[in-house]
Amino acid sequence: MALVLLPGVALTAGGEVSSRAPMDQTAAQEARQTQTTAQDAYTLPPDKLAKAEALSRIRVVLGFAGTLWYFVFFWLLLATRMVARLGYWAQRVTARRWLEGLLFFGVLIVAFTLAGLPLDVYGHNVSLEYGISVQGWWSWLGDAAKGLGLSLAIGAPVLLLFNWVVFRWPRRYWLVGWAVAVPLTVLGAFAAPLLDPVFNKFEPLEKSNPALVAQLEKVVARTGTDIPVDRMYLMKASAKTNGLNAYVTGVGATKRVVVWDTTAGRIPNDEILFIFAHESGHYVLHHIPLGLTASAVGTFLLFWVCAGVARWVVRRWGPRWDVFAIPSRPGFVVLLLTLSVASFVTEPVSNAFSRHIEHQADVYGQEAIHGIVADPQKTTVAAFNALGAAWLEDPHPNRFLVFWAYSHPSIQSRATFAAHYDPWADGGHGEFFKQ
Ligand SMILES: [Zn+2]
Repeated sequence: MALVLLPGVALTAGGEVSSRAPMDQTAAQEARQTQTTAQDAYTLPPDKLAKAEALSRIRVVLGFAGTLWYFVFFWLLLATRMVARLGYWAQRVTARRWLEGLLFFGVLIVAFTLAGLPLDVYGHNVSLEYGISVQGWWSWLGDAAKGLGLSLAIGAPVLLLFNWVVFRWPRRYWLVGWAVAVPLTVLGAFAAPLLDPVFNKFEPLEKSNPALVAQLEKVVARTGTDIPVDRMYLMKASAKTNGLNAYVTGVGATKRVVVWDTTAGRIPNDEILFIFAHESGHYVLHHIPLGLTASAVGTFLLFWVCAGVARWVVRRWGPRWDVFAIPSRPGFVVLLLTLSVASFVTEPVSNAFSRHIEHQADVYGQEAIHGIVADPQKTTVAAFNALGAAWLEDPHPNRFLVFWAYSHPSIQSRATFAAHYDPWADGGHGEFFKQ
């Protein structure tokens, strides 16, 4: 489990099971009644539909409860003075400041991981029950342990670094912290593919799917992306999931294409081409620098506002919590709580931005496969149906839920757009391609 504290932009093709916010049942039912299912471009057979709707409700409750529990746990740790006591304890254990800090943040990371474990276990159980995950419990626990290891190895030093910034610049720490956060985010995007093999096996895509690689190269040529064949990988996802995915990850020297083995060979290559072309769109349309810039602007505002709020919280509750100033270990935890709450509250903003660029990538993807597949509209609609069915996406998600928590437009709206998008009719051309 990663300790996510900074707003980021999700750049995958739309399969991920994300945490989602609460859902207004009545509004959902109304929305369902007003929609005519006969015109839906994304449909599920009755048995899958029932499952998808039930799963959607569980995901909403799980996402909302998880976030709320996370905040309550933060608050409890502070209110019971556990954080303050942890600070004193770490100081008694070692006089070396950096070691004491690593100990302090390490214990906190373990505590948060354990606190979230029951919900994680429930989530995995649901995923198994609904046939999305096929990962056995031991393997799942192994991944959880690896995740914790990475959080400790990377998260603890990063928290220590930011805490040091607060000590060093007690007034303008939010500005310096922001200046440190921006390059770290870029470094994270660069290093992400290097950490992926910790959890999954990768092999050259050409080894198992030479025909697919040959077709992908056609899209590479049409989009002008610089992705050589040796940067195309097959990820062995089938041991863990039935979900579909293909994506581009990394930046610069680590940039690569990844196709899950649950996708290659299981859905038609044409549909994989669309998913890949969508991902290429993110690169060609500079969504990664754009996303990083937007995240930098968002982080700037977030840090600035949170510095003020955290100061107020410490003044208001600090004496009861044994927290006397922001430039201290427990004071930094107050700052983390403030940042987490602010990230959650501003989720609709970052998600609206993300949905916008995801839609752009959809348009780009559909145009990019024009001339390569026989019927781009049909292929794209089929690809969305395959993605939706594999992840059991609700065909009629609640609108408020989409607004708050969806990093991608709903599968339904993506498929519906694709079904009607035909810029080549009457000799026209696309938005991004002249032919
Ligand atoms: Zn995307």
